[in-house]
Amino acid sequence: MKFDILVVGAGLAGATSARLLAEQGKKVLVIEKHKHVAGHCHDYKDENGITVHTYGPHIFHTKNKKVWDFVNKFTEFHYYQHKVLSYAEGKLIPFPINRDTLKEVFGIEIGTHEVKEFLEKEVKKSRYNNPPKNFRDVVVSQVGERLYEMFFKNYTIKQWERDPEELSPEVAKRIPIRENRDDRYFSDQYQGIPKYGYTKMVENMLDHENISILLGADYFEIKDIIKPELTIYTGELDRFFDYKYGKLEYRSLELELKTYDTENYQPVATVNYPNDYDWTRITEFKHFLDEKSNKTTVCFEYPKAEGEPYYIVMTEDNMKKRKQYINEVKKLEESGEYIFVGRLAEYKYYNMDQVIEKSAEKIIKIYKEW
Ligand SMILES: Cc1cc2nc3c(=O)[nH]c(=O)nc-3n(C[C@H](O)[C@H](O)[C@H](O)COP(=O)(O)OP(=O)(O)OC[C@H]3O[C@@H](n4cnc5c(N)ncnc54)[C@H](O)[C@@H]3O)c2cc1C
Repeated sequence: MKFDILVVGAGLAGATSARLLAEQGKKVLVIEKHKHVAGHCHDYKDENGITVHTYGPHIFHTKNKKVWDFVNKFTEFHYYQHKVLSYAEGKLIPFPINRDTLKEVFGIEIGTHEVKEFLEKEVKKSRYNNPPKNFRDVVVSQVGERLYEMFFKNYTIKQWERDPEELSPEVAKRIPIRENRDDRYFSDQYQGIPKYGYTKMVENMLDHENISILLGADYFEIKDIIKPELTIYTGELDRFFDYKYGKLEYRSLELELKTYDTENYQPVATVNYPNDYDWTRITEFKHFLDEKSNKTTVCFEYPKAEGEPYYIVMTEDNMKKRKQYINEVKKLEESGEYIFVGRLAEYKYYNMDQVIEKSAEKIIKIYKEW
């Protein structure tokens, strides 16, 4: 097999890069250590005809029209706006916080123009460091202690196994607050779920005469015997450098799938459980594509420390190691022989649209417009 460029990983970063290069006439070999393409957004249909997201629920949303046009070349999208409820104090409450959330929690009926003032009063009554020193401070300074305790505190403890007061303010950033009754989880202009699944969408991206795919092959086992003109690496950053600055930590998830003999398990796709039970959230997959079945498949998520890498951990120590690795990456990228892109190779939390955007940006630096 003759090729010019090697792409390591068949997730969205690898598939976007491979496709753009193939369209420029480059011969591309994609190698993927798993037996399937699509990486973390892989999905499949189960025996009840329900599309299950292998690594947890994935909703495509973006503000970037270029990204939206790009993915629409490879799939039709099913119209879907994500809704989340939070189970707190025995009730299912709209989340993120909007006017109806305030009505449920405080028993008050206020107008859109009064929400800001109401939250300011909540914040004023609360105790926190200003400027914020940690995750708790960031959230309390925006919504006050009552809403923090109800929706954020214990969810964060479950998710990160750390006290929010020990977590960097970076982890929280700005939390979405709706002053109206908009109960959509994302407010991006373009949203949806690929009609035939993410796996099919990625297969279509890779379906090009200039692309060859090798599944079940680990880059580190073949690295020394191939000499491409360019390697696009989307695997783990620390592994590439043989962990020379130490291992970068990830949080993982245990996903427990259950099928019930009922048409619907819950009213929306995702219900968060900040305070009760050990799981953080339950997702009922059939909502995404409005799939009809007299059974339903749901996924319980339990955060854990070890396993498949899911979420980066933003501690000072990890960020220091990341910086050391990224300095090495810069040197390799300057040589023109490597590009590092994607959530693993950059040790960065990215949504799917950001991965596509970032990959395209890196590719067009050396080749033409996308
Ligand atoms: C639970 C969860 C929910 C999410 N939900 C959303 C959502 O709703 N919306 C959204 O936009 N984003 C969501 N994301 C983020 C989304 O999953 C990622 O942005 C995206 O899938 C990352 O693509 P990638 O190509 O960078 O990485 P990956 O998908 O991880 O792809 C990297 C690929 O490289 C392969 N690989 C690694 N090392 C090697 C090697 N040595 N040799 C060969 N192959 C290798 C891996 O097997 C993998 O297939 C979610 C993430 C998680 C964890």
